[in-house]
Amino acid sequence: MAIKGELLIGGESFSGKGTAFFAIEQTIGNRLGRAFHGATPDQVEKALALSWEAFGTYRETTLEERALFLERIAENILDLGDELVERASAETGLPKGRIEGERARTVGQLKLFAKEVRDGRFQELRVDPADPERKPNAKPDLKLRNIPLGPVAVFGSSNFPLAFSVAGGDTASALAAGCPVIVKAHSAHPGTSELVGRAVQKAVADSMLAPGVFSLLFDAGFEVGQALVADSRVRAVGFTGSRRGGLALLDIASRRKQPIPVYAEMSSINPVIIFPAALANRGNEIAKGFISSLTLGAGQFCTNPGLVLLVEGMGLDEFLSKAATHIAEAAAQTMLTAGICDAFRRGTATLESKSSVQVVGRGKPGTMIEGQAVLFATTGSALIEDAQLQEEIFGAASLVVRCANHDELQRVLTALEGQLTVALHIDQDDFEIAKPLIPALELLAGRLLVNGFATGVEVSPAMVHGGPYPATSDGRSTSVGTMAIYRFLRPVSYQDFPASLTPSAFNKR
Ligand code: NAP
Repeated sequence: MAIKGELLIGGESFSGKGTAFFAIEQTIGNRLGRAFHGATPDQVEKALALSWEAFGTYRETTLEERALFLERIAENILDLGDELVERASAETGLPKGRIEGERARTVGQLKLFAKEVRDGRFQELRVDPADPERKPNAKPDLKLRNIPLGPVAVFGSSNFPLAFSVAGGDTASALAAGCPVIVKAHSAHPGTSELVGRAVQKAVADSMLAPGVFSLLFDAGFEVGQALVADSRVRAVGFTGSRRGGLALLDIASRRKQPIPVYAEMSSINPVIIFPAALANRGNEIAKGFISSLTLGAGQFCTNPGLVLLVEGMGLDEFLSKAATHIAEAAAQTMLTAGICDAFRRGTATLESKSSVQVVGRGKPGTMIEGQAVLFATTGSALIEDAQLQEEIFGAASLVVRCANHDELQRVLTALEGQLTVALHIDQDDFEIAKPLIPALELLAGRLLVNGFATGVEVSPAMVHGGPYPATSDGRSTSVGTMAIYRFLRPVSYQDFPASLTPSAFNKR
């Protein structure tokens, strides 16, 4: 399928008239194909108008129609074949094998949402019958169901060009809920976005849905995204990216006449706590697993282990020395964009310049667009005093924190910002000291895991990929797994409704 650099608005394609920008072949830094142009205000208005118009009919589709639509998107993505894999790999610098895995995850998650829609439980249908005889007041007849919020603006992430982009988790969950979607494509992979966008557009047509159920807009700057979030017809936002970007959108959403929810996944350093018995019994194995998780995909995962907490004692120096040996073998890897690579270099230079921080080891050096892995160490007291030490450095950089004792470890945990994950490395003899920490860890993160690393995120009904601020803007939700659908729903109660006016969803119970 030819990549034309076009905006997809409803069922049609248009050349953007805004500022031009190009896709970049990331490993060599060359422009890739023709220019993309941002959408003009008129084109944004067209997408918004069509989206609002489509909401009226899309929200009334049957569960089966909606599930089939999601399955068609999945099939159409697979039909793109190698072209999609090659383009995504070229635009992001991610290896083809990784993109193929991500495609499988994207397709799998669309099918999982199709299943969730068919199941229908997300509607939360509740029936509480009337009791006219109740004293002193008669009890009304009450029914409740969840309805979709309305059009959703989705901002794809740079680091998951398929699974968290145009037809990724935010789009799949919003469409599953019954909400039309307008995607603001990430400027780092516009060709990939267009290919996937056309697959969604075709599924809309094949399913005979209103064309405005899906639109895809490009922009060389931030105007298009900001206009979407500010518009009264958009009723929720899904975002994955930087804290600065997420907060900018939250600010716009909260200043609207009718503020709306912004589900922004932003920054997390995903602490790993290594307990004494685990350290003594298998320090080298943990060091190896840690470095391989840290350097996976050039460290460009929101669940990357950016902080490791240990208590001073036997095995700690040996752990650092083993980790240094393993990281020295790590090859530098192409990063997603020149901007992300620059930010990585600035972040690591800032840590290195601090007197409280030492470099434990580095990976192999690379080219200008490759990130060199680096491991730092500091003390618990330094981390508590200097908030900058816990800022996310997006890439393969991590900080080992040497806590003087168990009390200091607890104080460090209290000083940490909200996280997506916390990983515990524990053996049987550690359980006694680990157990009292669990309540505090529950308050700190959305996912707690034992004897593993958080970089793999299972798409499952029981997955939480979320957490308190700044991991996300709303820690009550998840952006991965079927529970993500609830972000785009709200409950409505029907009191004393005659049968003929009661929504048909209640008839099928
Ligand atoms: P980003 O710069 O925040 O961009 C994400 C999306 O939001 C892009 O579409 C971007 O537009 C748009 N955007 C950014 N700032 C905006 C603003 N002020 N107003 C309106 N739209 C705005 O994130 P990124 O490029 O994906 O990655 C950069 C950083 O994000 C990383 O260094 C890392 O810290 C963080 N990150 C975090 C996660 C996570 O899951 N926690 C994942 C990926 C990245 P453009 O396309 O025009 O830039």
